[in-house]
Amino acid sequence: LALSNGELFHIHAETDSAVAEEELSLLGDLDSALTYGNVSVVYQPKLDLASGRITSAEALVRWTHATRGPLRPDYFIPVLEKSDRIANLTIFVVRRAIADLKAWMVTDPALQVAVNVSALLLQSAEFLSQLKKVIQEGGVDPHRLIFEVTESAAMTAPDRAAEALLALKGWGIGISVDDYGTGQSTLTYLKKLPLDELKIDRSFVEHAHQNRSDAVLVRSTIDMAHELGVKVVAEGVETEECLQFLRMAGCDMAQGYLISAPLPSQQFEQLLAANRMA
Ligand code: C2E
Ligand code: CA
Ligand code: CA
Ligand code: CA
Repeated sequence: LALSNGELFHIHAETDSAVAEEELSLLGDLDSALTYGNVSVVYQPKLDLASGRITSAEALVRWTHATRGPLRPDYFIPVLEKSDRIANLTIFVVRRAIADLKAWMVTDPALQVAVNVSALLLQSAEFLSQLKKVIQEGGVDPHRLIFEVTESAAMTAPDRAAEALLALKGWGIGISVDDYGTGQSTLTYLKKLPLDELKIDRSFVEHAHQNRSDAVLVRSTIDMAHELGVKVVAEGVETEECLQFLRMAGCDMAQGYLISAPLPSQQFEQLLAANRMA
C-alpha cells in the first residue's frame, strides 16, 4: 500500500474542504439565480386512475447555473437544506405555482398543484409566516394546494413539524407524504400526521408488476391508506404493465414518465387542454 494513514487522512480533509467550498459558493449563487431567472418550475401531471384525467400536478424546481449549467435537484436541494436558503427557494416555488395555478383554474377549476416542502422547514416560524403571507397574497383557494413533505434526516423536532402541518391543514392545504416506504418516510407519519395523500416511492412501484414482495408491499400500503381515508399516488410509473398493476391494486393516482415527464408551464397547459378534449 503506497499511502500511509496520515496521507489518506490528508486527502480526505482536502476533498471535504473542496466540497464545503463548492457548497458555500452555491448558497451564495441562489439569490442571483432567483433574480435573473435561472431557477424555474416544471410540472409533472398526476393521473387520476378512476376518471383517466389529470387532476393535479407536482411542481419540481429546475436550476440552470450561470457557469455550471443545469444542476440536479437531488444535488442542490440537500445543500440548500443545510442553510436557511431552502426557505427562499421554497417560497419562490410556491409563488410561481400559485401564479400558474391561477391561470389554469380559469379552465380547470378543480386542478391541484403540489409543492415539495422539506419537513425541516416546517420547524421555522419565520418560514410559516412568510408562507401564509404568500398564500394570502396569491389569492388562490388553499384547498387547491398540496404540500408534499419528506422527512429530512436532520429533522430535530418532529412534533413541531407535525404542529405546523396541522396549521397548514387548518388553512385548507392538502398534506402528502412523499417517498413513502423509504427510510425517510415511515409508518410514524401515518400515526402522527394529518395526511390526505401518500406517495409510494418509485423504488417499490417500478418492479411491483413483476416482483412478488414489492407487489405485496404496494397492495397492502394502498389498503392501509384507504382504511385511514388517505389517497395513494404511485410515483415513477414508466410502463403500461406497471399502470395496469396499480389499477388492479386500487391505487388512486399515478405519476411518471409513462404519463408525462415534468413539463414547462406552457407545455403543461397544452397537456391540460388536450386532457379536457379527451
Ligand atoms: P421527488 O419529490 O420524489 O420527485 C420525483 C422525482 O422523480 C423528480 O426528479 C422527477 O422528475 C422524477 N421522476 C418522475 N417520473 C419519473 C419516472 O417515471 N422515472 C424516474 N426514474 N424518475 C421520475 P427531480 O425533478 O430531479 O427531483 C428530485 C427530488 O428533488 C424530488 O424528488 C424532490 O425531493 C426534490 N425537489 C424537486 N423540486 C423541489 C422543490 O421545489 N423543493 C424541494 N424542497 N425539493 C424539491
Ligand atoms: Ca415530491
Ligand atoms: Ca417522491
Ligand atoms: Ca423519490
